[in-house]
Amino acid sequence: MINILKLARAEILTLQPYQHAAWEPSLERMHANEMPWRATEDTSIAGLNRYPEPQPDELIAHLAHLYGVAAKNVLAGRGSDEGIDLLVRAFCRAGRDSVLICPPTFGMYKVSARIQGANVVEVPLQKERGFSLDADGVLAAWNENVKLVFVCSPNNPTGNLVDRRGIELLCEKLTDKAIVVVDEAYVEFAHTASLVSMLSKFENLVILRTLSKAYALAGARCGTLLAHADIVSLLARVITPYALPTQTIEAVLRFTNDAHRAEAGKRVETVVAERERISAQLTRLPAIRRVWRSDSNFLLVECVDADRVLTAATSVGLIIRDPRSNPALANCLRISVGTAEQNDRLVSAIAALTVATGDAA
Ligand code: PMP
Repeated sequence: MINILKLARAEILTLQPYQHAAWEPSLERMHANEMPWRATEDTSIAGLNRYPEPQPDELIAHLAHLYGVAAKNVLAGRGSDEGIDLLVRAFCRAGRDSVLICPPTFGMYKVSARIQGANVVEVPLQKERGFSLDADGVLAAWNENVKLVFVCSPNNPTGNLVDRRGIELLCEKLTDKAIVVVDEAYVEFAHTASLVSMLSKFENLVILRTLSKAYALAGARCGTLLAHADIVSLLARVITPYALPTQTIEAVLRFTNDAHRAEAGKRVETVVAERERISAQLTRLPAIRRVWRSDSNFLLVECVDADRVLTAATSVGLIIRDPRSNPALANCLRISVGTAEQNDRLVSAIAALTVATGDAA
């Protein structure tokens, strides 16, 4: 057992996991209390009357290839949300352990921790330095009850990539002390390599990837956790039986083949070009104080009056995200890059708002 696994909850380490009905495709199934017939018009390949293969070999091999790791380093779940939840449940004892997060950041790290009864230690990103990671601050805030350190790169909702050296420092200094979870949900939009290559160096590094963003498969719900094989095996004991629905498995295999990957790559480039185009346009509008540099498929903007920008968007049928509950994001809104037409509609609405009122919104 690798050292880092000693941080897991003792009852998870000794858990007798649920025994799935054996996966024996060569035999006819009379062992899983399923119906022997498909529903009329069930067009799935495997048949929805059957429980799916848990962590299907073909899917896992496919995801391993997609992300450039070995199959033993892959755990597939229902979105990266499930990876976050599994980590928190496996490593944090309720009322005793903590996760460390760097706000403003993706909300589920804190929500999963709270559901588990774990504490949340916060080391804010450094806003004055473009929301960069305060790696020394994280190390100073670490204590022996902090089991998981979440770093989101590119970060949601600020959009920026986190410095690779900072993450490396955390992995090094927290060896045997905490798992560093790097959430790369948006990395395809960043024109930079994933940190996957660091997995062989650090046993305490976990990387989260998702098909919900660049691959346009948010509705399929498929996220992938990449980690040392021992961490993958541990979490596979905790995941819900038959976690991945048949439709998810079939959709992922179909929509991430070579042709779809090429299409996804082109669309990512379109989004990146649109991101830069509207970023430049928004920067020039008097209603917008600042547009942060983005390495993702969204922009964080600081408005003169965010409420009026929200209303302007709604008035042209668009909804944008209001992240202002975070104290660092006063007057800020988050805009997901849309089609060129949607982006134009939004920019015009914000520009018109300024013109109509004759002031800076
Ligand atoms: N991580 C980040 C940073 C996200 O922004 C999101 C969703 N918005 C997720 C994870 C969850 O993604 P998934 O659809 O894979 O559960």
